[in-house]
Amino acid sequence: MFLIKISTMKTYDTIIIGAGAAGLTAARIASARGRRTAVLDMGAAPARKVAISGGGRCNITNAAAARDRYFGENPDFVRGALSRVSPNDILEWMQGHNLPYIQKTPGQYFCAAGAQSVVDALVHDANGADILLNTYVDGVKQDGNKFIIETNRGNLTSQSVIVASGGTSFDAIGVSDIGLTIAKSFGHKIIPVRPALCAIELKIFPTEFAGISIPVEIRIGKNSISDNLLFTHFGIGGPAVYRATVRNTENDWAINLLPDIDIVEWLRSARKTDGRRKLTSVLSQKLPGRIAKWAAAGIDKNIADINDSTIRTISSKLSSITVPVKDIKYHGLQSAEIIRGGVATNDISSKTMESKLCQNLFFAGEVMDIAGDLGGFNLHWAWASGFVAGQNA
Ligand SMILES: Cc1cc2nc3c(=O)[nH]c(=O)nc-3n(C[C@H](O)[C@H](O)[C@H](O)COP(=O)(O)OP(=O)(O)OC[C@H]3O[C@@H](n4cnc5c(N)ncnc54)[C@H](O)[C@@H]3O)c2cc1C
Repeated sequence: MFLIKISTMKTYDTIIIGAGAAGLTAARIASARGRRTAVLDMGAAPARKVAISGGGRCNITNAAAARDRYFGENPDFVRGALSRVSPNDILEWMQGHNLPYIQKTPGQYFCAAGAQSVVDALVHDANGADILLNTYVDGVKQDGNKFIIETNRGNLTSQSVIVASGGTSFDAIGVSDIGLTIAKSFGHKIIPVRPALCAIELKIFPTEFAGISIPVEIRIGKNSISDNLLFTHFGIGGPAVYRATVRNTENDWAINLLPDIDIVEWLRSARKTDGRRKLTSVLSQKLPGRIAKWAAAGIDKNIADINDSTIRTISSKLSSITVPVKDIKYHGLQSAEIIRGGVATNDISSKTMESKLCQNLFFAGEVMDIAGDLGGFNLHWAWASGFVAGQNA
C-alpha cells in the first residue's frame, strides 16, 4: 500500500523526512494545500513511537500545553506553534475520527481506542501524500533552487523539505540522527543530546525498595514536582523522576518522600497518642514497611522513647534527600521517552518552522531543541510544529 517504486516517481513540491507524529501532520496540511507531497520513513510502519506512546493508549495532548511545560535553550520558541494549534484542536480532530478520549488526570488526554487508532487516523489524513516506507534518508543537498534527498532507494528532488526525523531515544524501534546531520550541513547549531523523561541510576536507596511507588516531591531550584516515584533495582524512576529529568540541570534535586506532612510534628504527637508503638510501626502508618524500616535505621524503641534529636534526624532522612547534579546519571537513551537537545531553535522561524539559514528547509517535532514535560506535551509539540511546517513548506 505504501511502497511506491522510486524509479517511477515524480519530483515533489514538499518532501517530509519522517512519517512520525510531526511528519504525518505536516503531510496532511501540505497535501491539503495542493502541494505534491511525499513522506519518507526508514521503518516498515509509520509513526512507530506514536503506536507505543502512553503505554499503548497515546497520551495525545494536555490542556496545560503552554510555554512553561517546555524546555530547551529557547523555550519561548513554542509560543508561535502553540497559539496556532490548541489542545482543543487535537480533541476536535479525534472527534472527527470517532476516536474516544479519556482523561487520566485532569487535562491529560489519552486515546481510549488505543494508540494504533491514532496512527491509522494520521495515515488516513495524510493519504494525499505518497508515504514511502523502508526509505532511509542519508542526506539532503541543495541543487540550485531544489533539494536532492539521498535515500537507500535512490535520490528524490523537491522544492522544499521538512525535517521531521524525531529524537534518537528508544532506538529499538528504529531511530536515526539524520535530522541533526542535515541541520549541521546547512550551518545549524546542534544542542548536545541527552536522555530525558527517563529513570536515573542512583545508589542512595537500598535495592530492596525496588518495585515500591510512592507520591513524593522533587524540588529543583525554584521548581517543585509532585508526582509518584518508583524505586527500581538500579535507582529511581516513575513520573516524578521522569519529569525531573526534562528540567534544566543547573540545580541539585531535593527529594521529599513524605511531602504532605510535617514529619517532626507528626512523630512528636505520635509520642503522646501512640507512645507504646514501635518507631517502625508508627512510620509504617504513612510509609511502605521497607522504607519505614530504613528510616528507623535499626532503632528498636517505642515512639515514646524517641527524643527530638532522633525525630529531626529521621525527618531529614525522609524529607531532605539530596541528589547532587553531578551524580545524576540518566538511565540511557535506549529507555528514555525523549531527548533534550537537538537542532537549536534560534536559527528557525517560530512562525513558519523555516530555517533562517536556508530557504525552503523546515523542521518539525522532536528533532528541534524543544522537550516537553511528561503528560502529552511532546506529542502536542509534534502536532503543532508539524501543522505549522505543513502550512508553510
Ligand atoms: C515509549 C514512549 C512513549 C511515549 N509516550 C508519549 C505520550 O504518551 N505522549 C506524548 O506526548 N509523547 C510521548 N512520547 C514522545 C513522543 O512519542 C515523541 O516526542 C513524538 O513521537 C515525536 O514526534 P516526531 O514526529 O518528532 O518524531 P517521531 O514520531 O519519532 O517520528 C520520526 C520518524 O522519522 C523517521 N526517521 C528517522 N530517521 C530517518 C531516516 N534517516 N530516514 C527516514 N526516516 C527516518 C523514524 O523512523 C520515525 O518514524 C513517547 C515516547 C516513547 C519512546
